[in-house]
Amino acid sequence: MLNFVLFGPPGAGKGTQSQKLIDQYQLIHISTGDIFREHIKNQTPLGQQVSALIADGQLVPDQITIAMLEEEVDSNPNAKGFIFDGFPRTVPQAQALDEFLESKGTGLAGVIALDVDQEELTRRIAQRQKETGRVDDQADKLQKRIEEYFSKTVHVLPYYEAQQKLSKVNGIGNVDDIFAELRTVIDNY
Ligand code: AMP
Repeated sequence: MLNFVLFGPPGAGKGTQSQKLIDQYQLIHISTGDIFREHIKNQTPLGQQVSALIADGQLVPDQITIAMLEEEVDSNPNAKGFIFDGFPRTVPQAQALDEFLESKGTGLAGVIALDVDQEELTRRIAQRQKETGRVDDQADKLQKRIEEYFSKTVHVLPYYEAQQKLSKVNGIGNVDDIFAELRTVIDNY
């Protein structure tokens, strides 16, 4: 199996690059943010449970997120591998993912962090808010998401660095150039 994490702050381009990676590698893409938004749209019990947190830009508790992620992996038993997008966002999530994959006799090939500076992130998200109307892209909520990123999510990077699994890719520039850089990393797994 080929499993890897696409990592980066809100607006880094994880969604855009994931689309291209799915086509290239025929992997299953799991975006926890997309799954939560689907639950909210369909007003499922999980959607009702998490909608206020997400609208406010806060992280969903680990226990809920991990259970949802595991269920999603389990529902794709024939997958050639997975691209994890937006997960893990905390160290306990990263540990749970390692344990879960290990229990299935597999693991992460690596973690690719898309590097984008704060100014560019703010510009991109303002644009996305105009295009999609995502409530959590509004300026005050976005601020909270960026704070969540810098208080909790960045700690995931040293976790993977210690395992020598972390690669950084410059996330600014032409979409196809960034994609080519990602492919170079992945083709070396
Ligand atoms: P995203 O589309 O990845 O930016 O996710 C949108 C929102 O969903 C986040 O701001 C969180 O509220 C929630 N969310 C997505 N993934 C996770 C995660 N791994 N852990 C906790 N909350 C998450």
